[in-house]
Amino acid sequence: MEKRKKYDVIVVGAGPVGLVAGLALKQKGISSIVMEAEPFGRPRPGSRAIYLHNATLTHLEETVKGLGFTLARNGIIWPINRTVYKGKEVYVRNYGITDNNDPTQLPHFTSLHQDEIEKHLYKACMDAGVEFIWDSPASKLEIYDQGTVLTTASGETWEAQYVIGCDGARSVVREQAGLVFEGPRTADTFLVLDVKEDEENPMPLERTFHYQHPATGGRNIMFVPFKGGWRVDLQLLEGDNPDDFTSMEGIKQWLPKVLDPKYAERVTWVSTYRFHQVVANSLTDEKCRVLLAGEAAHLFAPFGARGLNSGVPDALKAVSGIERALQAVTEGERREAISLAAKERYIAANWNRDCSTTALHHLQGDSPEMNLKRELAASLASVVPRLGRWLEEGPYGPKFGPPELTTKY
Ligand SMILES: Cc1cc2nc3c(=O)[nH]c(=O)nc-3n(C[C@H](O)[C@H](O)[C@H](O)COP(=O)(O)OP(=O)(O)OC[C@H]3O[C@@H](n4cnc5c(N)ncnc54)[C@H](O)[C@@H]3O)c2cc1C
Repeated sequence: MEKRKKYDVIVVGAGPVGLVAGLALKQKGISSIVMEAEPFGRPRPGSRAIYLHNATLTHLEETVKGLGFTLARNGIIWPINRTVYKGKEVYVRNYGITDNNDPTQLPHFTSLHQDEIEKHLYKACMDAGVEFIWDSPASKLEIYDQGTVLTTASGETWEAQYVIGCDGARSVVREQAGLVFEGPRTADTFLVLDVKEDEENPMPLERTFHYQHPATGGRNIMFVPFKGGWRVDLQLLEGDNPDDFTSMEGIKQWLPKVLDPKYAERVTWVSTYRFHQVVANSLTDEKCRVLLAGEAAHLFAPFGARGLNSGVPDALKAVSGIERALQAVTEGERREAISLAAKERYIAANWNRDCSTTALHHLQGDSPEMNLKRELAASLASVVPRLGRWLEEGPYGPKFGPPELTTKY
């Protein structure tokens, strides 16, 4: 079959991470396309990456002026964090801030549906002139010393010096580059459900984590607001049949016990997960022609919101590594530029995986020591506030981020 146009870079996957990679490449004037398996306008499941950290908004603002502020303006900030232990409040903090409209300063975070995030990223791509090839699943990737050849399911071939694999958890790029995920999977099943807010009569904006909620038979449950809706995370117990909780009948049984019954009629998405805690064994191949980013590179449990928030710097680092590689004079310099980018994000991915593992151990309460610690903290929280704070912060893992990046994007 006839060879198609040659690009410096092909981004595989038009999820949020691929969109950021495509945007950053375009901003740097590197010839590139974004290739997506699904047709344009495909439905995307669930609210997923609702929580964008300030660092992510800052990265996006630096990539395209106005993008970070647009996302902030279109999301919400909840002012109150609350933690409840077996029905008793053990921590509450009211930051008093709900303003996501400050034109001079990006907020601490913003919360909006992943679909909305993707729409804003896609619009920025359109404005910048990023080129997309839709409905073209990559099926084969050949990697040579001088570059790569990508074949799609329809048999078309595309050449590129570099490929950024942003094709998600089941990445074909990862598999074709001979890279593999390493790490465990959670034993517990988590149910994730979205409800649409009743805009006429909304609930107060606060994020609440309940340890062993009495009305859910002692299951942990978390409520997180996002623009226009709420995400409910329910941790199922060993022996629970997920279908009993995800069927419409099941939802009508348990949801009205923890939320106004009207929300049982406002469910827009429900799914169950056993989360993987995995990182690819390397984020580049032996020839340094491929870089992995986002869920192609790592999967974490969502507690701590480390998925997209680390996928964005993965994409930006991959692009800056490729930019340096394209300018390299020697093969050694070229390889070093790619390896450094891959190594830096590999370290960050492992860091994030370890942090979300810490969060999981805390909230799963899967050891007698942790259970005892949690019980003691809850009983003393009213007199020792830092114990309430420990219960509040535990389900999200350590607050500090991965080691500092070596270079700016
Ligand atoms: C319940 C849940 C809650 C979450 N909450 C948060 C949160 O609060 N904050 C946060 O930061 N993250 C969160 N995440 C994680 C976040 O959703 C992911 O990190 C994010 O979607 C990953 O984006 P991605 O672009 O890497 O992959 P994806 O979104 O999976 O996109 C991959 C794209 O590649 C395409 N593709 C696949 N195969 C091919 C192929 N062969 N050829 C071409 N294209 C292909 C797919 O069609 C898709 O469009 C959550 C995830 C879940 C499941």
